[in-house]
Amino acid sequence: MHPLDTLGRPIRDLRISVTDRCNFRCAYCMPKSVFGHDYRFMDRRELLSFEELERVARAFVALGVEKIRLTGGEPLLRKELEGLVARLATIDGLDLTLTTNASLLARKAQALRDAGLDRINVSLDSLDDATFKAMNDVDFPVSRVLEGIDAATAVGLPVKVNAVVKRGVNDAGVVDMARHFRGTGHALRFIEYMDVGTTNGWRLDDVVPAAEIVERIDAVFPLEAVESAYRGEVARRWRYRDGAGEIGVIASVTEPFCGDCTRARISAEGKLYTCLFAIRGTDLRALVRSGATDDELRDEIAGVWTRRADRYSEIRTEGTAELPRIEMSYIGG
Ligand code: SAM
Ligand code: SF4
Ligand code: SF4
Repeated sequence: MHPLDTLGRPIRDLRISVTDRCNFRCAYCMPKSVFGHDYRFMDRRELLSFEELERVARAFVALGVEKIRLTGGEPLLRKELEGLVARLATIDGLDLTLTTNASLLARKAQALRDAGLDRINVSLDSLDDATFKAMNDVDFPVSRVLEGIDAATAVGLPVKVNAVVKRGVNDAGVVDMARHFRGTGHALRFIEYMDVGTTNGWRLDDVVPAAEIVERIDAVFPLEAVESAYRGEVARRWRYRDGAGEIGVIASVTEPFCGDCTRARISAEGKLYTCLFAIRGTDLRALVRSGATDDELRDEIAGVWTRRADRYSEIRTEGTAELPRIEMSYIGG
């Protein structure tokens, strides 16, 4: 059974947050002023175990999920994450990927590849050390992220690079990023700064519209549009006319794509969310730990999906930023 939600959208992608912890304090995600160093993160027992996660993942795959992305928090902080990758890699036909800040990637790339990871997304917001350090707010240098990207490439993991663009913070470096990654085989994707969570003080003025990013790059390196590859693809893709590769823009604020949103998310403690901007989740952990059968687990997820009506980005206004919602580091980006 492959359920559709109330807007006719199937469930195709699952993002699993494997931890709510992070060693960075990106101001747009886990600002130090709020998360500090003594913030109370989840206890280990609260997290879904790898065995529980595999069971939940299999239920989602039975309902139509084709792609699973491991995220967080910083997923590589979860102990022996390759053990989870190895379990999920045994599920037939699944595209298995991971989003990371790459701080631990040089050390982990080989084990992740050996365990069966298909691809990796690395977040890197600037090539300028001072800008990047200010954005991660823990003094982490660009060079170590680039080392992580090289290590992943060396073991055969295709790498995409994601950059969140915030006006007046890193937008001046957008063309430099394009120049650096052109011709490397790493697709570069720019993400509009979003009003996720309630701690980052988001304002519409901070958003650099994707169209402006494309214009700035096109002025230096001419671009042409690429057709989207499948329904639910979040990035609008552009290729360099000289054949040096591709960029993408994720215009969740200026050109929302809820109509094609086929994503579900599970928090590290096993709550199911059907929108990045959801307020309430469904507790799958309680169900799993109460001895539910596979059929019962599947039925619960299918029921939640069938009732889904989320389209937050299409109804976003300056005012909706005030509504309560879950932090991105908790729900998984
Ligand atoms: N820690 C990992 C990382 O940074 O790649 C994985 C989790 S992080 C929450 C996933 C993605 O969400 C990152 O690419 C990050 O830049 C993005 N992100 C976080 N806060 C955001 C925001 N307010 N707007 C847009 N993207 C955001
Ligand atoms: Fe950590 Fe990723 Fe959030 Fe930055 S974006 S604080 S690296 S979870
Ligand atoms: Fe999907 Fe919600 Fe984002 Fe719309 S706002 S694209 S429904 S996660």
